[in-house]
Amino acid sequence: MKSTRRIGLLLALVFLLPALFFSVYEISSLSKDEKMIQEIYSKQLEAILFSVNQYSDDILNGWISKIETSIKDDVTHDSIPPRIRSLLDYNSSLNYIFICDTADNVPRQAIFSRDSVNQDFRRRVDDALINNYQQIQQLTSYKKSGFQKVGLLSYAWGGSENLECLIFITEDPVRGFQVVGLFINPDTFIQDLVGPRLQVIAKDQFILSAFNKGLAAPVYSTLSADSTSVKAEALTKDFWLFPDYALGIRTKGSSIQDLISERTFNNLILLITLDVILIIAVILVFQNVKKEVQLAQNKADFVSNVSHEIRTPLALISMFAETLEMGRVKSEEKKQEYYAIISKETHRLSGIVNKILNFSQTEANKKVLNPVPLYIVAEMKEILKTYDFHLTNKGFEYSLIEKDNVKVKADKEAFIEITVNLIDNAIKYSAARKFIEITIGSEYNYGYVVVKDYGVGISSTDQKHIFDKFYRVSTGDLAKTTGTGLGLSLVKQLVDAQSGKITVVSLPGVGSSFTVYFPLEMN
Ligand code: ADP
Repeated sequence: MKSTRRIGLLLALVFLLPALFFSVYEISSLSKDEKMIQEIYSKQLEAILFSVNQYSDDILNGWISKIETSIKDDVTHDSIPPRIRSLLDYNSSLNYIFICDTADNVPRQAIFSRDSVNQDFRRRVDDALINNYQQIQQLTSYKKSGFQKVGLLSYAWGGSENLECLIFITEDPVRGFQVVGLFINPDTFIQDLVGPRLQVIAKDQFILSAFNKGLAAPVYSTLSADSTSVKAEALTKDFWLFPDYALGIRTKGSSIQDLISERTFNNLILLITLDVILIIAVILVFQNVKKEVQLAQNKADFVSNVSHEIRTPLALISMFAETLEMGRVKSEEKKQEYYAIISKETHRLSGIVNKILNFSQTEANKKVLNPVPLYIVAEMKEILKTYDFHLTNKGFEYSLIEKDNVKVKADKEAFIEITVNLIDNAIKYSAARKFIEITIGSEYNYGYVVVKDYGVGISSTDQKHIFDKFYRVSTGDLAKTTGTGLGLSLVKQLVDAQSGKITVVSLPGVGSSFTVYFPLEMN
C-alpha cells in the first residue's frame, strides 16, 4: 500500500536516520573521549601524588619551625635543647640534627642525637659541609632574600643505615646565619609518616606506593605484600624530599587503560542496544500504523459492502410488495411465492442488522455473557436440526462426528452465534464440493468443535487477517459473495471472552477447517 510505505519512509527518516548519524558520530568520538579521559585521569593521579609530596613537605616544615624556635630560645652548643630532644624522641626517622655556623670555612657544629655521637661522624659532617660549601652559600643567599629552601647535603655517609641529610639555613639575631642538618632515614620517614597518609588517600580505589629507585620492590605500599615494580605503576613522580625515591599510583583491580576500554566497550554496547531498541520501536510503530491504515481501508470497504448487502433485499422487498399492493398478481400461487421472497429477504436484512448490532455490542463489551455447563453435542444437534432445511436446500450434505460427549463452559447464545457463523461461512465459501463436516471432541482442558468444508480455502497471507474487523478476502472466485467482514471477528471476540481460542487450517482450492475451543466444565 502506498500510504503505509510513505509512513514507513517518514518514520525511518525522522527516527532512524538521526539515530544512525548520532551513533556514527558517537562511535567516532569514543576514541577521542578515551584519550581525553586518560588525560583527565592522569591529571587527577598527578594531583594525588602532588598532595602526598606536599604533605611530606609540611611534615618537614613543621620540624624546621620547631628547630628555628628552639635555636632562638634555647640552643646552647653543649646540652640538647628540650624541643629538639622531643623532636628526636617522637620521630624515629630523624636520627641526628646538627647546627653549625656558616661563617667559617671549618664549621663549629653541635650535633644532637638520641644516642651518643662518635668523633668520626663529627669529622664526616665537617667534611660534608666543606664539600657542599657552594650549596650552603646558595641557600644562605636565598635565606637573605627571604626564601627558606631545603637542600640535600650530598655525601657518601657510609655505614649500614641508609641516611639522607637535608639542610636549611636559619637566621638568628645573635648567632647570624646557621646551617641546620637533619639526618633522616627515608625508608622510616616514608613508612612511619607518609604511609598513614597514603592509606587515607588510597581508600578502596587506588594503590599508592613509594619506591627507592634502586630497588625493585616498593619501600611502602598501601597494598600489603606488594611487590610490583615502578614500571607497572600507572603514574610515578619523584619524591620531592628525597630525589632517589619515587611515588607511584595505580588503580585497584583493573588499570586505567582497562577501565577506559571497559567504559568505551560499555558505551558501545549501550549505543548498539539503544539503536536496536529504536529500530524495534520504529518497526512496532510502523506495524501499528499499517494495521490502522488497513483497518481504515477495511472500514471503508465495510460501508460499501453493507450498503450493497442492504440495498439488494430492500429493492426486492419493495418491488414485490408494490406488485402485491397494486393487486396485479392474480394467482394465489404467485402471491405465495412473492410473500415467501419478501419474508426471506426480510430475514436476510434482519440477519445483517443483527450481525452488526451483535458486533458493536460485543466490541463495546456491552454483551453480557453467561457461561454455563453446556453439552455441545446436544447443542450442535439442535442447531443442525434448525439448519437442516437451509443446508439441504442449498445442496449441502453434512455429518456430525462425535468423538467425545464433552461438557464445556460456554454461553449458550454465544455458542450458537459462533457455530452458525462458521457454518454460514462454510456454505458461502464452498462451490464445487458441498460437504460440511462437524467434529466434536476434547483435548487437554478444552472441548472443541471443528467446522470443516471443502470450499475455496484461504491463502496463508489472508489467514493472518480474517479475524480482523471488517476484513474480507478481496480476490478469488467467491470474492463477490456478499458479506460484511464482521463474522469471524465477532466469532473471535466471543471465543476470547469465554477463555477459549480459535484456529484455522486452510488450503486454497482444498478447503478450510475452523476449530473453536471452549474450556471444559470439570464438575
Ligand atoms: P464475511 O462477511 O466476508 O464472510 P467473515 O469475517 O465471516 O466475513 O470472513 C472474513 C473472510 O474470511 C471472508 O471474506 C472470507 O474470504 C474468509 N473466509 C471465512 N470463512 C471461510 C471459509 N470457510 N472458507 C473460505 N474463506 C473463508
